[in-house]
Amino acid sequence: AKLNGKGRVMHYDGELNRVREFQLRVENEIRSGLERDEFEVWYQPIVDACSGKMAGVEALMRWPRRPAGPLPPDTFIGIAETCGLIHALGEFVLRRACRDLQPLYDLKLSVNISPAQFRDPEFENKVAHGLRENHFPAARLQLEVTETYVLENPERAAAAIANLKSFGTAIALDDFGTGYSSIGYLRRFNFDTIKIDKSLAGRVDSDPQAAALVSGTIRIATALGMAVTAEGVENAQQKRLLRQAGCDALQGYYFSQPMPIEALLRLRRERGDK
Ligand code: C2E
Ligand code: CA
Ligand code: CA
Ligand code: CA
Repeated sequence: AKLNGKGRVMHYDGELNRVREFQLRVENEIRSGLERDEFEVWYQPIVDACSGKMAGVEALMRWPRRPAGPLPPDTFIGIAETCGLIHALGEFVLRRACRDLQPLYDLKLSVNISPAQFRDPEFENKVAHGLRENHFPAARLQLEVTETYVLENPERAAAAIANLKSFGTAIALDDFGTGYSSIGYLRRFNFDTIKIDKSLAGRVDSDPQAAALVSGTIRIATALGMAVTAEGVENAQQKRLLRQAGCDALQGYYFSQPMPIEALLRLRRERGDK
């Protein structure tokens, strides 16, 4: 009897309210978290597929000091996107990452950008400002964007990408292989790098179809003059296969987990890289 139409609607409304309440709570927590400096930026090495040397890092946001306990970035970034706080979080990440990486002059820095940030007509100016403020060379920066962004507003995307590339910043297409990714828009947007998503790259050693998709993607990207990074590399077999297939750079737990800046500096000292 509780499963009649009415009961279900009420149950559904209750569920929606709980989700909404959680979102509002997290929204307020993000606001105060920014004021109280609860957020951090961690760095995951990206290695050159041939030499195995660290070539750069991807900046990944963390919220270790959230009073109610840590939340994964997918969760709080999703909420920040719906309420506009992604602009403040995005500026924080860019500034902090440029500041942290500035002295490690041989490493490239890759920063994730949400669709909402790119929608801001001031976005390119904010990037330029963040670079200047930290004396960070534009050519050491790569911005990672997703397909959602480029397909949502292709004209604005093309203009923003062209502006950013005009100061020397590189653009990567993130999460390749998870959406509708067509060759047509790969050509149109002229990305510098394609990042093959871990859901595809992480299956090269177990799923022949995934392996075929990966090598096809690499051939197309290479023909278009784009570099290829594979993410989610977790074992030596995947590393070997991805390297053989022609990936330029590799990233994943096999090489290193994301880590705070202090740990990255320590790792470099220990290896005598610098
Ligand atoms: P993403 O951009 O695709 O980042 C890669 C994710 O894969 C990261 O998760 C990373 O920790 C994880 N990862 C790296 N190596 C491996 C591996 O070998 N195996 C597995 N299973 N996972 C691996 P994380 O840090 O939890 O971030 C999740 C997502 O949150 C990111 O996915 C990105 O979409 C978003 N994100 C994180 N930081 C930022 C940020 O500063 N700005 C924006 N806009 N989004 C961010
Ligand atoms: Ca990314
Ligand atoms: Ca990804
Ligand atoms: Ca992503």
